[in-house]
Amino acid sequence: MINCPICDAAIDVEEDELDEGDPLICEECGANLTVASVDPVELVADEASANDDEDEDFDDFDEEEEDAEEEDAEEEEEEDWR
Ligand SMILES: [Zn+2]
Repeated sequence: MINCPICDAAIDVEEDELDEGDPLICEECGANLTVASVDPVELVADEASANDDEDEDFDDFDEEEEDAEEEDAEEEEEEDWR
């Protein structure tokens, strides 16, 4: 039995049929995995897919910060006009 390195779920594949470099997808967490070695079987998470989550978090944070700054600037302008 092979387990996902991300969520530790059992992945339903035949170890005998794996080749080094084979791509796999964990059905539990959707991680893109690559067979790093076959003896013993070792899976590694695809770095690109792992980084996607981090990038999304950073994007959300940046957007919130920018929105807050823009609102402050608009309020100041309105006060100047009055
Ligand atoms: Zn998983």
